[in-house]
Amino acid sequence: MTRRYMTWALGSLLGPMGLGVALAAAPLPPAGDQQLARDILKTLVEINTTHAHGTTAAARAIEQWLLKAGFPPADVTFVAPEDHPTKGNVVLRYRGKHPGKAVLFLGHLDVVEAKPEDWSFDPFLLTQQDGWFYGRGTIDMKDGDAALVESLIRLKREHFVPDRDIIVAFTADEEAGGDANGPAFLLQNHRELIDAELAINLDGGGGDLKNGAPLYFEVGTSEKTYVTYTLETTSPGGHGSLPGPDNAIYHLGAGLARLQAYKFPVMVTATTRASFAALGVVDPGESSADMKAVAQSPPDLAAAERLSRNVRLNALLRTTCVATLISGGHAENALPQRAKATIQCRMMPGDTEAHVQSTLVSTLDDPGIKVTLDAPPIVSPESLPTPQIMQKIGALVHSMWPGVPIIPTMATGFSDDRQTRNAGIPSYDVSGVWIDTDENRAHGRDERVGVQAFDESVEFTYRLIKTMGDTKWRAK
Ligand SMILES: [Zn+2]
Repeated sequence: MTRRYMTWALGSLLGPMGLGVALAAAPLPPAGDQQLARDILKTLVEINTTHAHGTTAAARAIEQWLLKAGFPPADVTFVAPEDHPTKGNVVLRYRGKHPGKAVLFLGHLDVVEAKPEDWSFDPFLLTQQDGWFYGRGTIDMKDGDAALVESLIRLKREHFVPDRDIIVAFTADEEAGGDANGPAFLLQNHRELIDAELAINLDGGGGDLKNGAPLYFEVGTSEKTYVTYTLETTSPGGHGSLPGPDNAIYHLGAGLARLQAYKFPVMVTATTRASFAALGVVDPGESSADMKAVAQSPPDLAAAERLSRNVRLNALLRTTCVATLISGGHAENALPQRAKATIQCRMMPGDTEAHVQSTLVSTLDDPGIKVTLDAPPIVSPESLPTPQIMQKIGALVHSMWPGVPIIPTMATGFSDDRQTRNAGIPSYDVSGVWIDTDENRAHGRDERVGVQAFDESVEFTYRLIKTMGDTKWRAK
């Protein structure tokens, strides 16, 4: 997904604020590891993993690094679907002292297409300029993949043995348009390879800056569920010169107008309540009181309505449905016999497709409009921001960047978390990269990551793997 949906939602509203001073320099990995991580990032960026090329070459490169680091061949598994040999995944099992439920780290290897003519640099060469690394995947998410690979090499060299097994899966087809999603394939066909007590996905979360000053560090704990419906109306049709009252296009249009006016009820989850409570404190602006009021139980609905005037906050406060496609009629001079519209919904965690469908039916308020579910959704239940997990990650973040606020967040888009959450594995997004809330280059042109931000994220990822491999705590 595009990283930092939440950043867009919240950080973009805020003025120059936060702690008000530039982010202090954080600990870095040893020089040799820093260079190795950069070299791995370069190699990964320069292996084109758009859908046309696939992820197998990148997965094989990672397999080689891990074997060279000394991991036993039996614990480094390359797997690709038989019918999609270019959509390879590689899974490492880093064996711990005690059996028991493992912790799974996820990193997707695929990237969105990039056309060289649209870029200032070759998107498939890593270019360093003015303190930035440019290249496709530098922020989404070959940065995270490189940090994981390098940290594993370093941990192995240091003879680190975790308390419990650590699994790291580098996977295919997270981005839109892929046809062989790695986590879905692994869960369905090789569940034992990646079965875990919880998952940490480096494809989201992380630190948010505003004009170089830290705002907060996000831990992604939930995301909305994607579900699509088709509306269909029919009418007898006939000659265009003899219109009557029964017209499929008018029926559908009138229903869509009612839908446009409708707002789903406000829903506040454990995550969004904690987000709004924290942001009400972090943000001194005019929305501060409303954010705090929405975080009350029950939420202040008048405050929620005021916040909902902002498109992004609205998406955090309720399920949304919107018309995205429309078609109807068959000839310029004929009365329509059929009209169709596509309604794309993003459900709050805890909402259901049956509830949304019945709400659509009652809002459309016309038995002549048939409502059908296009496909069962991949339901992504919230992974609770428990004090245990938030304190665990928070302490780690503060070991690198003291004092920054830690906020659990809900993404309005979706990521591979929906696969693991749907399979019953609570999943948390934790990237170690700080980016400016006004930066929006993932999936776009001149994608980049700060050189220092990348170096620090390598150290953060090393500490994150160590911390999560410790069994002396529980997610719940
Ligand atoms: Zn991504």
